[in-house]
Amino acid sequence: MNITLPEFDVEAFRKQFPILHQPDSHGRQVIYLDNGASAQKPQVVIDKVVEAYTKYYANAYRGVYEFGQRIDDELELTREAVRSLINAERKEEIVFTPGTTASLNMIAQGYGRTVLKPGDEILLTLMEHHANIVPWQIIAEQTGAVIRYLPLTEDGRLDLEQLSDYLTEKTKFVSVTGMSNVLGTIPNIQLLASAAHAVGAIFIVDAAQSMLHEAIDVLETGVDFIVFSGHKFYGPTGVGVLYGRYQHLEQMSPLLGGGHMIDRVFEDHSTWADPPAKFEAGTIPIVQAIALRPAIELVREIGLEAIRAHEQSLLVHAMDALREIPGLKIYGPAPEHKGAIVSFTLEGAHPQDLAFLLNRHGVCVRHGHHCTMLLHDHLGISASVRASFAAYNTHEEVDKLAEAIQAARKRLRLA
Ligand code: PMP
Repeated sequence: MNITLPEFDVEAFRKQFPILHQPDSHGRQVIYLDNGASAQKPQVVIDKVVEAYTKYYANAYRGVYEFGQRIDDELELTREAVRSLINAERKEEIVFTPGTTASLNMIAQGYGRTVLKPGDEILLTLMEHHANIVPWQIIAEQTGAVIRYLPLTEDGRLDLEQLSDYLTEKTKFVSVTGMSNVLGTIPNIQLLASAAHAVGAIFIVDAAQSMLHEAIDVLETGVDFIVFSGHKFYGPTGVGVLYGRYQHLEQMSPLLGGGHMIDRVFEDHSTWADPPAKFEAGTIPIVQAIALRPAIELVREIGLEAIRAHEQSLLVHAMDALREIPGLKIYGPAPEHKGAIVSFTLEGAHPQDLAFLLNRHGVCVRHGHHCTMLLHDHLGISASVRASFAAYNTHEEVDKLAEAIQAARKRLRLA
């Protein structure tokens, strides 16, 4: 089949990110390959932050004066932009949170507590980020529920052949990463959502990594909750999203109590406002949420398909180049099953030393367990080095990564 890929001008895209044209203290332009940790910010996002603070800043959902109204309008425009991005039915299903971690804790506590009974099961996978493990461990301990982990295949995909053993009538929640932050693995969300629903379980996607690489349509896939962070989506830090189907949000308890989230406060109890206000207690990250909209608009203007095609070409290039390096081991499946993340170890080199030596060449990568200790235990290693790509990365940068690893091998006397 001959597929025509959409046009993507990496240089034009790159120009929009001022930090990518900013020399570091050694006068070099760094090669930023730590996008899985956080993405850089385009000028439109930076401008929006400045615009809000300089032109109409006020607290949200409180003032009838002009600034207050403008802030509310901007927030609602962002809510609508997120709704449209994931094709949710209503913008009231979009809750602003501090990030993915907060969103997952809100679901585990707020929904888990209303549903889970002793012996009920929560199904996760072995490749989850700690943010999608620890909140479930806390609620499991509080309710007597049990956590199970879907195993992986040899090459780091979910072992779907074992799914029916792990997904039973006891399963009440299935919470899965949309893309592993270490292996890059992208599971079949549609299939998992259908399987979870077939046993009556709630299906949650931790889209922290996948949001920028894989389009997700909540109506088509039928997922119950999606969570993600603005900062990995070219947006500001401090803001994230919790999408939940409206009937779930109605059933779910708020984690935080305070201003704005109430309907009526009595001496001995309170009643809640309707979603999303019910989950937005206190002063939310107002400007961060507002500045998420230009990031969404930028991504949509270019198109996730074009972004993904460019990132896939970087991934294939990186895997080909790194495979040539003696003693280097890449973890995770073949490129067709994953997004643009390459985690690896180099025989004879501690991941931290390797990351340190790559930094000497201006190459920014992450080392450690990347908040996935269970996955690293499963892989039989304590740490790895991770290069994670974004659409502004170039093929020259991939070559420089490979050259920097070769130079590190010489420095460590491995070559
Ligand atoms: N889930 C995954 C898959 C992630 O990669 C991350 C960030 N590394 C998180 C959750 C947590 O995101 P945040 O720190 O923005 O809350």
